[in-house]
Amino acid sequence: MTQDRESALLAHVPDGLFIGGKWRAAEGGATLPVFDPATGERLLTIADASVSDGSAAMDAAVEAFESWSRTPARERGELLRRAFDLLQERKEDFALLMTLEMGKPVAEARGEVAYGGEFLRWFSEEAVRASGRYGANPEGTGRVVVSQHPVGPCYLITPWNFPLAMATRKIAPALAAGCTVVVKPAELTPLTTLLFAKLLQDAGLPDGVVNVITTSTSGAVSEPIIRDPRLRKLSFTGSTPVGQKLLEQAAHGVLRTSMELGGNAPFVVFDDADLDKAVDGAMLAKFRNIGQACTAANRFIVHRSVAEEFARRVTERVEGLRIGRGTEDGVAIGPLIDDRAVEKARALVDDAVRRGAEVRTGGSPVDGRGTFFAPTVVTDVAAGSDILREEIFGPVLAIVPFDDEDEAVRLANDTEYGLVSYVFTESLARGQRMIERLETGMMGLNVGVVSNAAAPFGGWKMSGLGREGGVEGIHEYLQTKYTLTPNP
Ligand code: NAD
Repeated sequence: MTQDRESALLAHVPDGLFIGGKWRAAEGGATLPVFDPATGERLLTIADASVSDGSAAMDAAVEAFESWSRTPARERGELLRRAFDLLQERKEDFALLMTLEMGKPVAEARGEVAYGGEFLRWFSEEAVRASGRYGANPEGTGRVVVSQHPVGPCYLITPWNFPLAMATRKIAPALAAGCTVVVKPAELTPLTTLLFAKLLQDAGLPDGVVNVITTSTSGAVSEPIIRDPRLRKLSFTGSTPVGQKLLEQAAHGVLRTSMELGGNAPFVVFDDADLDKAVDGAMLAKFRNIGQACTAANRFIVHRSVAEEFARRVTERVEGLRIGRGTEDGVAIGPLIDDRAVEKARALVDDAVRRGAEVRTGGSPVDGRGTFFAPTVVTDVAAGSDILREEIFGPVLAIVPFDDEDEAVRLANDTEYGLVSYVFTESLARGQRMIERLETGMMGLNVGVVSNAAAPFGGWKMSGLGREGGVEGIHEYLQTKYTLTPNP
């Protein structure tokens, strides 16, 4: 039965490129297989775009721009709203598809459908609010008109860890603003974006407004698009090294850019924290998405007086997490995305242990098929350990003790990243001090998940540029014009 449901769903997923409103094969018929990380089995074979397919997608986005940018904002918003409604009707399909191609437990995949859908609803409402202003200049000699205009055709590159939400978080504000787009999903999880493009088509998307290219050669296909003088905006979510490379390419055309890059989130537990809340928050901040989130807590910085109790309680909870394919009931820990991710988690734990850390539970890959790593707790992680510097991107909870507030702040800020921080304290004044002292674009104060479509998501330092969501999100796709007119 389950197998039938999976096959029926996969039969429904488009396997072509989506260019100018048409589904078509890649030039020369090249294809790319997509696998289930829980079993290693092939799910589907899809089109593998070449440079010329990328250029055709750009042509389509450029051609559609003129009419889409003039389409009334209300109509653009209504398209997004219809897409939101259709997504609610089809949410089980999207949840299952994400579990199949990415591995997350289906309950979490449903959560992503809810979160990803909210960007469609939020920006359907924001489309009609992006306006300008009008007023006299201070000298009283003229009138100032400030207006907002869509930036133009955009290139959107998304990662594999949140296949739906990372796409809607970019597509929805772009369309709301009047931009047209070429979307390139990650080669490991392209199916969700293809199914979403079909949904947009069913919602009445005009031809060429959204184009999707899937490719196994992201660098080669993307660079000519980024260097195309007709492109006006690049929005990227992924790792910091790739983001840096793309920023260099974007400098050529002085493109507007949004960069949602890596994180190394501190999770600070003070001695005055409510430990029940802190443990609940830790389980979410660490193990959601099998630890593969840019917002995942990477370093648990815990006051020495509560560190042992915290470690004991999280270890107990972690030992109760069920490992398995995300489609199975009660599974909390699915596979990591690939072998490299498993090797990375293993190397980080081994390095920490060599430097004196203690493994309380887990610590190694799980034998058998699929790319599984046991959920892990390590304590007494020494300064200088790789696990404190690098994004773990796996289910490993690493604890470092501290003695006073200044030390906690110093440890928390001791990273080139600045995406999100988590702070657990029952003291309002201390919480307020942390808001002022921690160098991150987002903070969870006594909560373990911060993502919300109505709030500006984004990082400081090497975690990125720009914001997605909130009232800020649409401005990434708008440019300002100021006009001076004489007095009437
Ligand atoms: P990645 O940088 O390897 O890939 C991201 C995307 O870029 C994929 O679509 C990939 O195909 C593409 N890509 C890779 N090399 C490219 C190149 N040379 N030119 C053009 N495109 C290229 O990252 P990933 O492994 O898919 O995702 C994990 C990373 O993403 C982590 O660092 C994570 O923190 C980050 N991330 C950040 C956010 C955020 O909002 N800040 C959200 C999710 C993930």
